[in-house]
Amino acid sequence: MRVKGFSFRGNPVTITDMEMLDSLRPYYEEEEILLLEEALKKPSTHALYLNHHLISDEDFQALYPGLRAHPFIPHAYYFEQEDALGKSLLHNIGGFYILDAASMVSPYFLSPKKGERILDIAAAPGGKTSILSLMLEDGVLLSNDLSYKRALELSGNVERLGLSNVVVTSGDFEAAHPQYEEYFDAIMLDAPCSGSAMFRKDARLEQDWSKEKVLKNHEVQLRLLHLASTMLRPGGRILYSTCSFSYEEDEGSVLGFLKEHEDFEAVPLMDHPCFYHHKDLPEGIHLFPSHYEGEGQFLCLLRKKGEKEGTIFEKGRAFAGKLDPILKDFDLEGKDIRLHNDALYALPHPMRVSGLSLLRYGVKLGETSPRFLPDIALARALGKGHDIPLIKEKALAYLAGETFPLDGGDGFRVVSYLGIPLGFVKLTKGVAKNHYPKGLRRRY
Ligand code: SAM
Repeated sequence: MRVKGFSFRGNPVTITDMEMLDSLRPYYEEEEILLLEEALKKPSTHALYLNHHLISDEDFQALYPGLRAHPFIPHAYYFEQEDALGKSLLHNIGGFYILDAASMVSPYFLSPKKGERILDIAAAPGGKTSILSLMLEDGVLLSNDLSYKRALELSGNVERLGLSNVVVTSGDFEAAHPQYEEYFDAIMLDAPCSGSAMFRKDARLEQDWSKEKVLKNHEVQLRLLHLASTMLRPGGRILYSTCSFSYEEDEGSVLGFLKEHEDFEAVPLMDHPCFYHHKDLPEGIHLFPSHYEGEGQFLCLLRKKGEKEGTIFEKGRAFAGKLDPILKDFDLEGKDIRLHNDALYALPHPMRVSGLSLLRYGVKLGETSPRFLPDIALARALGKGHDIPLIKEKALAYLAGETFPLDGGDGFRVVSYLGIPLGFVKLTKGVAKNHYPKGLRRRY
């Protein structure tokens, strides 16, 4: 936040706000700019996407009756800051992902179809990836980010939510893209941008903002759109989005791309009273906080003309060695098993990983050396149906790292709370030795 101007409801309007709003004036009606200016003075809203694979909407609403459902995105809810959901046990064990309500709309419109192979090019920290993964039935998702540090965070979120169909990589497709020619059925390109639509939530973005950066981002966006176009099969779709209000990064980038790529077309999407469309690109959607309850976002769905058959997956590679007996319980038959850095991973179907650093190949089953030790990711992603339910008191003891008495057969067993797998214990004669990772242990 550079220099404070005047203040409204505790939110200062700054010189940067003004510069940014001024830069929109050549493109949007004055009335829209004034409405946006008013909206930026108001407090942000808070929203989450429910991990409906782990907890049903009915059970979640019973736990948190005060939440409001999103008007058109299933499993999405608004909450009040006082609810402190980010610090809750349910959040820590993967019950939901907290993200801005505007950020949920692009994965909703990319709308993964059964059996697809999807790429999320710039995926960290993983809000859109989480929604895509949960929407995707019997398919696989490659989620990448240029920044290795951010890709680690992405991988952590994939693990927390127990997502089993996600490969996490780090790299730039500038070098890797020839190895993925027409490989994907759908691509999410949530492009790096100036972030003006996130000013209310992150003041650092505001400090960094300048018109020069907007124009520089526009060049990066054109480059990423072009790379995406080469990796998409004919008939496939790209969902382009930014969290910028700037025309140059939004309509400007899409129109610039379409001018050079006649084999692509913009696709009209469902309309809603809270969407704003610019006349130059009526298929694009602006979510302005003046009309939509959330921060800002721009999105546009692009289709590659023509038709090529969608993905037919090759057979998964079974692990050549003998799998530890505990793995036999986890329905791994037919999955693609891969050894990476002395650990075993499983993905529903094989995914090409070339020219990128691999962080995670689906579910980490466990370290193999010196002997097989099951990983928490195995419990989180595949533990449902294999679990010993714990009462709240024991679940809290487990998450704090305690050893406690528990009935059940000897061996590695998954323990759960509210039907959500928490992790492994090793049961020996009625005593559960705690295998919850030390770094995650916490008292609630
Ligand atoms: N889609 C993410 C989500 O929902 O959590 C947010 C993505 S953020 C808007 C943009 C991301 O692009 C940043 O994490 C940044 O590190 C990444 N990035 C920047 N340049 C990139 C490139 N050339 N290839 C891949 N990722 C890139």
